[in-house]
Amino acid sequence: MEKINLKDLTISELEGFLEKIGEKKFRAKQIFKWLSLGVVSFDEMTDISKDLRKKLSDISFISKMEIERKLVSKIDKTTKYLFKLSDGNMVEAVVMYYKHGITICISSQVGCRMGCKFCASTIGGLVRNLSAGEILDEVIFAQKDIGERISNIVMMGIGEPLDNFDNVIKFLENVNNPLGLNIGYRHISLSTCGIVKNIVELEKLNIPITLSISLHAPTDDLRGEIMPVNNAYNVDTLIDACKRYVEKTNRRISFEYTMIKGVNDSENIARILAKKLKGMLCHVNLIPVNEVDETHFKKSDTKQIEKFIAVLEKSGITTTVRRKLGSDINASCGQLRRSNMK
Ligand code: SAH
Repeated sequence: MEKINLKDLTISELEGFLEKIGEKKFRAKQIFKWLSLGVVSFDEMTDISKDLRKKLSDISFISKMEIERKLVSKIDKTTKYLFKLSDGNMVEAVVMYYKHGITICISSQVGCRMGCKFCASTIGGLVRNLSAGEILDEVIFAQKDIGERISNIVMMGIGEPLDNFDNVIKFLENVNNPLGLNIGYRHISLSTCGIVKNIVELEKLNIPITLSISLHAPTDDLRGEIMPVNNAYNVDTLIDACKRYVEKTNRRISFEYTMIKGVNDSENIARILAKKLKGMLCHVNLIPVNEVDETHFKKSDTKQIEKFIAVLEKSGITTTVRRKLGSDINASCGQLRRSNMK
């Protein structure tokens, strides 16, 4: 029988698991607490009897992540981790220090199969999904390493969270649990390239996280060229789903838009974008594209970005430009794993 990773279980699943092996249900809470603290062996669970610890280690395991590489920015303390999973695969996470608290950007898959043309994470395709416990481990082991509480999470690292839906939802439940890391849903953002089917599923669950949509272009011609997912769910289908999501949850959606020189940054394109988003409870976050070795995309000029913003704001759409943190450690997603693979 394959051993199970206890961190892949929710509390109620852990209770069921314990009952099945003839143990008391209440132990689940004790074990859950220890797991969230980042223990790496059953012997660290000092309020659990030796017998039970032995029994657990025979049929289950505690996943851990090793820090393969760690880069700390001298400018703003942004810390980038290359984590090694138990099977040797690598994922990235980035810890950022903001005035409102410490935020971690985490990965949801090893690699990605979405194929966005400007993105480093997708170049080698998808290797596998992360389990719920492995996603949680990124937060647990980064927090353990920095020795301070992480209060915010953005799911914007490697992978497409809505392409690993069940594990991501279970992770969200566990990271939110007050007995564990206790990170409020309102402090969590999930970013998707637009898998509409699962945006609808997420809406049904009514979890008050912030949804970010990687839009990057307002027309099918252009978006289809840089984001293959657009061939499955086109721009209007995506925006309609977002409108319904906002109506149902009453939560503002954030649209991510990478500014790529000469590709998607003209004022004409800004006008089309403004028309499509007008009146919606949303906000646009512009990201000057990170130049990836394997692609030919270049950042838009600052002046062009300003013109683009002016068009959006004229339509009443709040627009921000993402502040670049950790510029000295190349903290952008997917690039550390790539450089390690090369
Ligand atoms: N798969 C999810 C989350 C991971 S990517 C998604 O697509 O949203 C996190 C964000 O970074 C997305 O908005 C993505 O489009 C963007 N991104 C990817 N590569 C980038 C690059 N080279 N420069 C700027 N943003 C990039």
